Amino acid sequence: MGSLRGGSGGEGRNEDGGKVGLPALEVALAFPQATPASLFPPAVSDYYQLDDLLTNEEKALRKKVRAISEKEIAPIMTEYWEKAEFPFHAIPKLATLGLAGSTTKGYGCPGLSLTASAVSIAEVARVDASCSTFILVHSSLAMSTIALCGSEAQKQKYLPSLAQFKTVGCWALTEPDYGSDASSLKTSATKVPGGWQLDGQKRWIGNSTFADVLVILARNADTKQLNGFIVKKGAPGLRATKIQNKIGLRMVQNGDILLNKVFVPEEDRLTGINSFQDISKVLAMSRIMVAWQPIGISMGVYDMCHRYLKERKQFGAPLAAFQLNQEKLVRMLGNIQAMLLVGWRLCKLYESGKMTPGHASLGKAWTSSKSREVVSLGRELLGGNGILADFLVAKAFCDLEPIYSYEGTYDINSLVTGREITGIASFKPAAVAKSRL
Ligand SMILES: Cc1cc2nc3c(=O)[nH]c(=O)nc-3n(C[C@H](O)[C@H](O)[C@H](O)COP(=O)(O)OP(=O)(O)OC[C@H]3O[C@@H](n4cnc5c(N)ncnc54)[C@H](O)[C@@H]3O)c2cc1C
Repeated sequence: MGSLRGGSGGEGRNEDGGKVGLPALEVALAFPQATPASLFPPAVSDYYQLDDLLTNEEKALRKKVRAISEKEIAPIMTEYWEKAEFPFHAIPKLATLGLAGSTTKGYGCPGLSLTASAVSIAEVARVDASCSTFILVHSSLAMSTIALCGSEAQKQKYLPSLAQFKTVGCWALTEPDYGSDASSLKTSATKVPGGWQLDGQKRWIGNSTFADVLVILARNADTKQLNGFIVKKGAPGLRATKIQNKIGLRMVQNGDILLNKVFVPEEDRLTGINSFQDISKVLAMSRIMVAWQPIGISMGVYDMCHRYLKERKQFGAPLAAFQLNQEKLVRMLGNIQAMLLVGWRLCKLYESGKMTPGHASLGKAWTSSKSREVVSLGRELLGGNGILADFLVAKAFCDLEPIYSYEGTYDINSLVTGREITGIASFKPAAVAKSRL
């Protein structure tokens, strides 16, 4: 075999100039009967017509978000996912979705129903999970904390530009030593003349490498209770470093944050956060939104598999004609119907004021675990192409892993629900719990 050298246009050629390889991303040459992977597949997963459960406004928003996501977001995300870079030029397109600020009324926010927000975030996740995570960190965590726990002046000052994505937010709870055990966090807030001094470290904070508005949770050095602060980009003593080499949500810029004597003026303390309980209302809503990400991811994977299996032939028949493949498709579809119903019911419980923390945790834990089955079936259904980010499924497969672990891992969310249904908290091993008595 002749040695390879790059041909014009990046193709691999042997020494006689004959083609031996294929240019990266020209999938059509490897799989001529396929619709180009760049054309997003039609949405075909609403088998039980659960769209009927939505109001006309919710349906209209879903349609709009689906159209923008397929047309504007889908074509650019694989490249940025591969490069692990954030596509800043896409921010104006994301702004046109009208999702930032979610259920907040006023302050330039859209005042959506929670159901509308949830089905819309699923539509974004269907096309690209990194994008949906970027929006959720900005909207459901940073903006919601300001909306629910901020003063009137803080809402007026920060929310309008965040709602238009003119500024970007992040939300910092997790620390290097306190992930699942977040309520034990150590970052300190010490009262100083005119404001507060923050010292400590945060880890995994989405958007933090470029966020304009950083919501930082810290322990009050006097009361030992949780407090919240708005820190602005460029504050002296603040440093955020990108976490490299992630296998999922690669476009999202997660950072390690160092806070070294960062001064926060009194006006930027979030007066509504005086204990860990005070952020549980933010987390409860945000967990519902996160529960809808695996639903959207599963929908996209199913859509891609449904088209692919009809287009690719082996043994003289489309892959869709094989019984084993049909069973896998049906298992994926069944999971999606169940996930949609659970997600929808969760929204209704929240909207009617009946949702408990256990409800939200069960929803997030369960949809992410069912979705793991869907994406892994999808990955195998696409064979070799199931490991290529170009075909969406491999990217979605990788993206689900961090979602399974963030906003409370599967285990922690199970324990939240377990505590609610049994009345017994089992977060701490018995030996540790006893020694602290
Ligand atoms: C991509 C990504 C984005 C993130 N974005 C943000 C963000 O924007 N802001 C933010 O504040 N945080 C963010 N996080 C942090 C995230 O919330 C934590 O990673 C998560 O809470 C888990 O913490 P940990 O990674 O330290 O895992 P650990 O707490 O070390 O857990 C490791 C394993 O032990 C298990 N475990 C831990 N405790 C128990 C227990 N009591 N019982 C049973 N099992 C247990 C866990 O379930 C897990 O399987 C993000 C994380 C990732 C990966």
